[in-house]
Amino acid sequence: MIGCSILRISALVRSVLGISPTLAVSVFPAGALAQSTTGASAITMSFVWVEIFSALILLFSGVAIWIIARNQTKRIRELKREAEKLRDADFGEPLRVEPGELGELAAVFNDMRDKLKATTISRDYVDSILASMNDAIIVTGSDGTIKRVNKATSHMLGYEEHELVGTTVDFVVNTGKSGTLVDQKPSGVPREAFFESKFGESIPVSFTCSFLGGTEAETGDRIYAAQNITERRRAEKRIRYLARIDALTKIPNRMQFQHLLQRCIARARRSAKPLCVFYIDIDAFKEINDTFGHLAGDTTLETVAERLSAALPDDTIIGRLAGDEFAVILDELGPDEKGRKHTDALAKQLLSRLADPFFVQGHEVFMTASMGIAYYPKDAPNVIDLIRNADAALYHAKKSGGNLYSYYEPEMNEAAVERLMTKSKLKRSFERDELLVHYQPKYNLETGEVFGAEALVRWELPERGMILPSDFIPIAEETNLIIEIGEWVLDKVCEDFRFWQRSVSSPGRVSVNLSLKQLRQPNFTRRIGSILRSYEVSPTSLELEITETTLMENPERTIKLLNQLYALGLHLAIDDFGTGYSSLSALQQFPISTLKIDKSFVRHVSSNPDDATIVSTIVQMGRNLNMDVVAEGVESEDQLAFLQKLGCTYVQGLLFGDPMSSDSYLELLLAQVEGTDTHRALFA
Ligand code: C2E
Ligand code: MG
Ligand code: MG
Repeated sequence: MIGCSILRISALVRSVLGISPTLAVSVFPAGALAQSTTGASAITMSFVWVEIFSALILLFSGVAIWIIARNQTKRIRELKREAEKLRDADFGEPLRVEPGELGELAAVFNDMRDKLKATTISRDYVDSILASMNDAIIVTGSDGTIKRVNKATSHMLGYEEHELVGTTVDFVVNTGKSGTLVDQKPSGVPREAFFESKFGESIPVSFTCSFLGGTEAETGDRIYAAQNITERRRAEKRIRYLARIDALTKIPNRMQFQHLLQRCIARARRSAKPLCVFYIDIDAFKEINDTFGHLAGDTTLETVAERLSAALPDDTIIGRLAGDEFAVILDELGPDEKGRKHTDALAKQLLSRLADPFFVQGHEVFMTASMGIAYYPKDAPNVIDLIRNADAALYHAKKSGGNLYSYYEPEMNEAAVERLMTKSKLKRSFERDELLVHYQPKYNLETGEVFGAEALVRWELPERGMILPSDFIPIAEETNLIIEIGEWVLDKVCEDFRFWQRSVSSPGRVSVNLSLKQLRQPNFTRRIGSILRSYEVSPTSLELEITETTLMENPERTIKLLNQLYALGLHLAIDDFGTGYSSLSALQQFPISTLKIDKSFVRHVSSNPDDATIVSTIVQMGRNLNMDVVAEGVESEDQLAFLQKLGCTYVQGLLFGDPMSSDSYLELLLAQVEGTDTHRALFA
């Protein structure tokens, strides 16, 4: 090719000079030919030289062009090779940067490589974070279209990422149970829903949905982080079951019975219909126990539950309220003449069925029972009074000889009169400043250190001695007196706290019980803030204890209020956890940092496997949710050891002594500072 070019170029040179071999012949006449032969050959030679010279120039230029072209091609190939490596995420070494346009291209290329490397590294980093997360992460656009999911999502739902990308988030949601998620605005607040796996399995999840980058303004993209809560649901269900159902007779226990009665009363109120409660107690149950042993006692109780269930319509609510006490709710049975006739017939039938002899371990046991009957609304307007009045009627039937039933009459209930008197006495005592606050220390289970205390109100009456809150708080709660008492307790706690602070730098965190009525006050946050300010006590030194039932009374309002209290710096605890009816997930929406396990579960924790399961599940759940768990009502070293093994955070209870005065608590704190405290040996 180069040879052809050279020929073409020499022809060109010749044409430029206007000289050709034929032209030489035509220019000179024939006579002058010999004479001019020497000159002609010289000219020819010059042409030859010119041609050789041109050919050489052309050859050199050709070689130079070839070398340059080869170099360029090599550089371009190198660039191509590096580009291919980049395509395959292999960043290699930067390219040499030489002068010239290809050098500039190499510099730009290097720059691009660096940027791509940085982006890829951070993308890989994000990828590895996503891949190692246990939560299922789903990223969607503002319209809910899935853009990315992580491994945990595939693991939870059985779909590969490519099967989900491009569908909407509702594709994995059981919208029948949970509604659509696409339409729900991201809030960052934990919520619950049911996801549906590729295999049609419905999976309960707790999830949050937030805007990617924090605000809607950026891209509008959303990120869902979901946790499978099947196990937690199962554990909660078991806790609720164990907490509500009597383990021996498999019928509702007292707490559950009261809850169900509450619902029946609400229904009866709405439909303006009456209802009736039978309170049943086995006559001389103690004798059965003493004569035939506890096993026979247990069989007797099971027999009563079975017989009541068999004799009454299927949906009748039957509960075991205590030891040998049972109760039954009968809907729509009223005190009018017709109702009474039915009630009489049923009461007789039940007593006769219960009196049938039965065999335990080869012994024939004769048992009778007594029964008290009270109607809603005639005899009492609420659960507590209805049960109490049925109990008063039962007492009357027992006193009349047993194996009988009695209807409630107001004069049977001296307690009602007593209650009224207590109410007015309490008001007077409060006005005379005769209430006290005692402190029950809370201990760190790991170190045995005093972590704080719970403030418990006390009422001292000269003629009756110390009255415990369980006997007067419910009465105070019937009126607004509980608000005044509650505020007084807060004030007293802050006053004591400031006093302790003069002697010890950190008196721990003091918790105060709150009643529903206090929380309902419109200006509660402001009041509490002003009490704290007036004593210059930091809000973080205080914890407010609120029961599950109180929390769930009006959740929306309570969340707002608790968020305000939390924003003030106060700690919040759920008191008597396990006795309420809310799911832990529902409680998660509140800014709560502490769970207090009710003492009824702690009491038999080291001897009753059901209670042990409840307590260990609550401790586990608390830990999963980053909450502190306090076990209350610790009375024995066995209980303490069990709780220690579970990894519960704090304990309080009579094992460490009775709740104490403000001065005694200060002494305890001082002893701890000086290292002379004695209780710590218990934790060793
Ligand atoms: P709580 O908040 O669950 O308080 C724990 C109760 O368990 C206290 O009873 C305490 O004395 C008792 N206790 C502590 N350790 C043990 C133990 O080892 N064994 C047993 N059997 N009991 C133990 P207390 O003082 O009678 O209080 C009963 C309830 O009265 C409290 O239950 C709380 O709900 C309410 N209460 C107490 N003080 C106040 C108050 O200032 N305001 C309001 N609203 N309620 C209060
Ligand atoms: Mg409490
Ligand atoms: Mg409690």
